[in-house]
Amino acid sequence: MAESDAPDDQSLMTVADRLRRAQAEMGHQGIDWLAVGPSADLRYLLGTEGHLSERLSLLLLPREGDPAYVVAGLEAPLLEPLRDRLEIHAWEETEDPAALVAAVVRDGPGGATPTVAVADELPGVFLLRLQAALPGAAWREGGLLLRPLRSVKDGREIALLREAARRTDAAWEDFIARPLSGQTEMQALARLLELTHATGLEPGFGHCSSGPLTASPHYAGGDRAIGPGDVVVFDWGGRLEGYHSDVTRTVVVGEPEPEFVRAYEATLAANEAALRAVAPGVACEAIDLAARAVLEDAGYGEFFIHRVGHGLGLSIHEEPYLVTGNTLPLAAGMVFSDEPGVYLPGRWGIRIEDAVLCTDTGGERLNEAPRELTRVG
Ligand code: ZN
Ligand code: ZN
Ligand code: ZN
Repeated sequence: MAESDAPDDQSLMTVADRLRRAQAEMGHQGIDWLAVGPSADLRYLLGTEGHLSERLSLLLLPREGDPAYVVAGLEAPLLEPLRDRLEIHAWEETEDPAALVAAVVRDGPGGATPTVAVADELPGVFLLRLQAALPGAAWREGGLLLRPLRSVKDGREIALLREAARRTDAAWEDFIARPLSGQTEMQALARLLELTHATGLEPGFGHCSSGPLTASPHYAGGDRAIGPGDVVVFDWGGRLEGYHSDVTRTVVVGEPEPEFVRAYEATLAANEAALRAVAPGVACEAIDLAARAVLEDAGYGEFFIHRVGHGLGLSIHEEPYLVTGNTLPLAAGMVFSDEPGVYLPGRWGIRIEDAVLCTDTGGERLNEAPRELTRVG
């Protein structure tokens, strides 16, 4: 973690509040300890992402009382801003950190037979070592308590997501004012990411596909030169204090074939239908089905090959997942993507993605970059 990641007073209050809420949930779920390594979950709970490496670094939150943190001695100074909140256990290079974790855990709730919840992103190798060091423990998914907490954003989180989306849109408007023809996918993407970074956002991620490659939704980009008649898809974002933006826009160089225009209009109508379906209490799958119905009517149902959206926050993909089969009800404060797509193998693909906030009265888009079909040079 860098100096700039050090939490300020306001975020220290947030830290205290989030740790308390996690502990309350642990009580309800009968969990004695929550183990969280460097990850978005750690940033959510402590305001710092920590440093993920081969050296074990682990927050140990007991059901009651003060949290402990097991960290390599050389990284202990990084936790200095949190010293008042964490009981820090530093291990020497020659020590076994899993044995140190076991000693801390045995000393707290659950004793030698605790129920330990492990956060989603703890590397498997650490979990295996912890399981060997704590043979009497029962293991649970930490996500069962962290995912519901993280999926409903507070006012500060919404403000950060809104601002990250606004800056990403501004970068797009600068970017798309210039021609694409003659650049490779990676060159075009580099310029878009540079403009995004210039708005003050931290680096996030980026994909650019062109021509027939646009039919592969997660193709990241390569050396293909963009030329006349090409469909080009950009899917990218940046981060503001850890919170991601995630937008997709599909454009065409010159004049598109007539079927592309029809499919584009259907994809845009699906994006709008999903937005209109958003309201607190509505099942996640209803949003997916609303978009799917539009594309099915237009004859593209079988070419919409992914869910309509995913939660957005400290991770690019997090709960809630807007997918058929997920009956989880939406709640005000959830932020997620609305990204229907149509992919015709060997020809082209289309995706239109915005971030959407679920408010008390319905869905509100956080992205407003132009969505109507854009023809570029
Ligand atoms: Zn994706
Ligand atoms: Zn995206
Ligand atoms: Zn997305």
